Amino acid sequence: MAITGVQRAGFVQIRVQDMKAALHHYTEVLGLIEVAKGGDGRVYLKAWDEHDHHSVVLREADAPGMDRMAFKVADNDDLNDFETRLEDSGVTVTRIPDGEDEATGERRQFVIPTGHTIELYAEMEQVGNGMPLDNPEVWPDGLKGMHPSRFDHCLLYGDDLDGSVKLFTEILGLRIAEQVVTPDRKLMIGAFLTAATKPHDVAFIRSPDKDRFHHASFFVESWNDLQLCADLITKNKVKLDIGPTRHGITRGGTIYFFDPSGNRNETFCGGYIYYPDRPMLTWTEDELGRAIFYYDRQLNENFLSVTT
Ligand code: FE
Repeated sequence: MAITGVQRAGFVQIRVQDMKAALHHYTEVLGLIEVAKGGDGRVYLKAWDEHDHHSVVLREADAPGMDRMAFKVADNDDLNDFETRLEDSGVTVTRIPDGEDEATGERRQFVIPTGHTIELYAEMEQVGNGMPLDNPEVWPDGLKGMHPSRFDHCLLYGDDLDGSVKLFTEILGLRIAEQVVTPDRKLMIGAFLTAATKPHDVAFIRSPDKDRFHHASFFVESWNDLQLCADLITKNKVKLDIGPTRHGITRGGTIYFFDPSGNRNETFCGGYIYYPDRPMLTWTEDELGRAIFYYDRQLNENFLSVTT
């Protein structure tokens, strides 16, 4: 097993203002599968090809946004090692006991310099992907909506980009697959960080305010699936942001839209496989339009200004 330490973006807890409307969106339109309702009203969802219990938790609240993003680490030794390394670097780490989230082992929670709450965990009950492990089909029955195969990544906006990138790279061991810098290359504006083989598991854009949530992204198989996503957005009168189009960064196909509370979702396809010896790509700010929206070659106003 070559992938050690932080393995992947594991789950995200998103605040929604109306759980009924949110569940319709996340299950019938986006096509996640509802796995469990917690005693505290939170709802746990997964994408179809994930074996773990959940990758999205919805919590009803007065304002939208992201409560926390959690990364799965290889085992409990890693969990303890990362706790020590975080504390040695001055980060306060809170231990969350086994079972506080449904079907989830102990977690370590901390706030990163951009103000986002991040967690690490090693254990989650596996519920399978709806197919047998022996001689499976290629997809299970009963898929709905856009039916992404997995939760892929989040994009987060915050002020101390350098601090959060340093924490993720130097302590948690993620690598910068791509970065955006000012034309004089003195200031990093964006960082796309990978834990293993995806082009990114989490990305950051420098912005004035702390703890802003730009989007959670879900992986679909192909460009044709993005057309299905676009059809469903129109059919269900979902608020579209932009797309289908393509990113220069990651080379992935994309469509952005909003849940009923105004949280941005993305469905995403393609992108390259990242290996640790792949050189980092750099985009200069004057090419930011092409980096984010390769075909339009300019940013839409929403992309820069709308976060939750
Ligand atoms: Fe994205």
